[in-house]
Amino acid sequence: MEQKINACNNLLELVGNTPLIKLNKIAANLEGNFYAKVEGFNPGHSSKDRIALYIIEEAERRGLLKKGSTIIETTSGNTGFSIAMISIIKGYDCILAVSSKSSKDKIDMLRSMGAKVYVCPAHVSADDPRSYYEVAKRLHEETEGSIYINQYFNDLNSEAHYKSTGPEIWQQTNGHITHLVACSGTGGTISGTAKYLKEQNPNIRVIGVDAFGSVLKKYHETGEFDTKEIYPYRIEGLGKNLIPTATNFEVIDEFIKVTDEESAHTAREISRTEGLFVGYTSGAVMQAVRQLEEMGEFNENSNVVVIFPDHGSRYMSKIYSDQWMADQGFFDSKNVEEPQKIEFLK
Ligand code: PMP
Repeated sequence: MEQKINACNNLLELVGNTPLIKLNKIAANLEGNFYAKVEGFNPGHSSKDRIALYIIEEAERRGLLKKGSTIIETTSGNTGFSIAMISIIKGYDCILAVSSKSSKDKIDMLRSMGAKVYVCPAHVSADDPRSYYEVAKRLHEETEGSIYINQYFNDLNSEAHYKSTGPEIWQQTNGHITHLVACSGTGGTISGTAKYLKEQNPNIRVIGVDAFGSVLKKYHETGEFDTKEIYPYRIEGLGKNLIPTATNFEVIDEFIKVTDEESAHTAREISRTEGLFVGYTSGAVMQAVRQLEEMGEFNENSNVVVIFPDHGSRYMSKIYSDQWMADQGFFDSKNVEEPQKIEFLK
């Protein structure tokens, strides 16, 4: 007879239901109460576990996937990791087409999770047959029984958050949430979560975080897709040079833009002050909160939920590398804390 053992059957049971954690120190000087939904607690260390699992299980429900089928996506980031992890557990092959801009660390990480990685030239346009978009499309067409996740243009992306992240936040705050502040990349997180929350209480303010160099804020305000807004920036996962159909602009009240430099310092500060080792965009979202506070957005009755999308371990050679920070000129300003010197004892 099987004995009662309190174990999960597999990692997938741990996706979602992430903790909501009160921010004590980083928000100490701000008016209101601030809580972080810490998505780094997912087994794949980011919010992308939710969408990868939801989209894959939806494909299973629709009979599109069988044992040994192939799952394809264009990503070197968190979504790739989540798909690779889920593919291992469910017995699928995972192919990821990534840009040659992706760091070697990221490519090694995906390969160590069993993914087959195609590295495609970064300097070609999206419709060039060598681009990672076109390579993924072609692999999907050529591989029988494959699915293409296509997170920027897949409605199931925001639906995953509508069904999980939104209800979790509503329950965890007992309905007392007044503001949601979240990054927008594909827009899936903010759109799905905000749609659910606004259905419960239409007065909840929803603020999206965008990057300088991205088109989202201007598109939201004017309806214009302005390519003049586009220039390179360093934060990964936030903002975009196209308009994703996965974003529901109607449920977002306002966008706010943040800089690479301030976001990097703020992420490091969250780690140092809260003991929460978070990624670059968590710094971006907290930086946005600071800007919103200056604009008079909050008062003592505000209950603000911010989403911290991923874990700091993904950024060891970026924001958590003093050398990288120095190379970007991020220590040049007088107002920033100098990095700690490493002491080598003899
Ligand atoms: N932060 C990070 C680190 C991400 O990888 C992403 C996803 N691109 C986001 C924020 C934004 O989430 P979403 O795509 O759901 O808008």
